[in-house]
Amino acid sequence: MAKKKTPVSASILADVARTGVDEAELLGERIARYGVAHARTLNMLEHLRGVPSDPQTVRAAAGLASCGNYLHFREYFTVGKVRLHNAQFCKQHLICPLCAIRRGAKSLGAYLARWEVIRAEHPDLKPYLVTLTVKNGEDLAERQNHLTKSLRRLLDRRRNFNAGVRGSPWTELCKVKGAVYTLELTNKGKGWHPHCHMIALAPSAPSQSDLSAEWLSVTGDSMIVDVRPITGDPAEGFMEVFKYAVKFSDLSLADNWEAAQVLKGKRLLNSFGLFRGVKVPESLLDEPLDDLPYWDRFYRFIQGEYQFTGESGGVQLQDTDQLKLIVVKPANLAATAHLPGGRKP
Ligand SMILES: [Zn+2]
Repeated sequence: MAKKKTPVSASILADVARTGVDEAELLGERIARYGVAHARTLNMLEHLRGVPSDPQTVRAAAGLASCGNYLHFREYFTVGKVRLHNAQFCKQHLICPLCAIRRGAKSLGAYLARWEVIRAEHPDLKPYLVTLTVKNGEDLAERQNHLTKSLRRLLDRRRNFNAGVRGSPWTELCKVKGAVYTLELTNKGKGWHPHCHMIALAPSAPSQSDLSAEWLSVTGDSMIVDVRPITGDPAEGFMEVFKYAVKFSDLSLADNWEAAQVLKGKRLLNSFGLFRGVKVPESLLDEPLDDLPYWDRFYRFIQGEYQFTGESGGVQLQDTDQLKLIVVKPANLAATAHLPGGRKP
């Protein structure tokens, strides 16, 4: 399935694709991508200020207003790595692309790590990208519910057949030993189009034509499915599943806000079998590199882009109590971020 990407999602998806992207020389690109994302967040903020105000809208707007105004990177210059060390995030990843990128990258990293473990233990398994779609419709809540319920029925079939429950029908997903899947949403002017992208681990490919027939029998109105092997860099293939939140920024602002309200509190990322129980870190920051000297680099969002506002140096201390003494004031970053006893390298 050839995916056409809008400039916003294409540029910011690069961060999700290369979750380990911490090479110092790539910092400029990374900051530019974050700037594009944050500009969209500010557009959403403007949009919310223009819609009838209720407590939910006011809360969402307050979160957006405080998100991503400054970024504090730490450059570990002896190894040429840069990590995002501090920032304020609203964590409303359905309406905030910067949070969506960070969330996507964190999820991708966690599932790729699990895949490495699974691959070593089950060399017979291969990853497949399975896409299941439901027909477009005007009523988002109804279509979304239809997708969720249909998926549930198909996965119940798999579980019951594999458990030997008498009379349970076979599904091609019975071949799948583990999967992680997300629910994504598009609307290109022809109604809402919810669909599911799944990384499915199986010893052989589920048959697309059989799966299509099963999907029609489950949904009653939809038969479009796609099954393809993931070859090459697994990060690239897996990204299709973990970019779901970033894709919300392809919607118009009004559609994006409507979708966020309808989907609020719903689980959009799920897993089963060998992919069950993967823990995605809560923090949207990067992990620090212990015990290496660094430069701190500070950026603020000014006039439509992140601009460098200052730097300072120090040594990473192992004692976490001492680390807590770092004070970062967004209003005066450059002057306040020295570690106690820190030295310029
Ligand atoms: Zn945010």
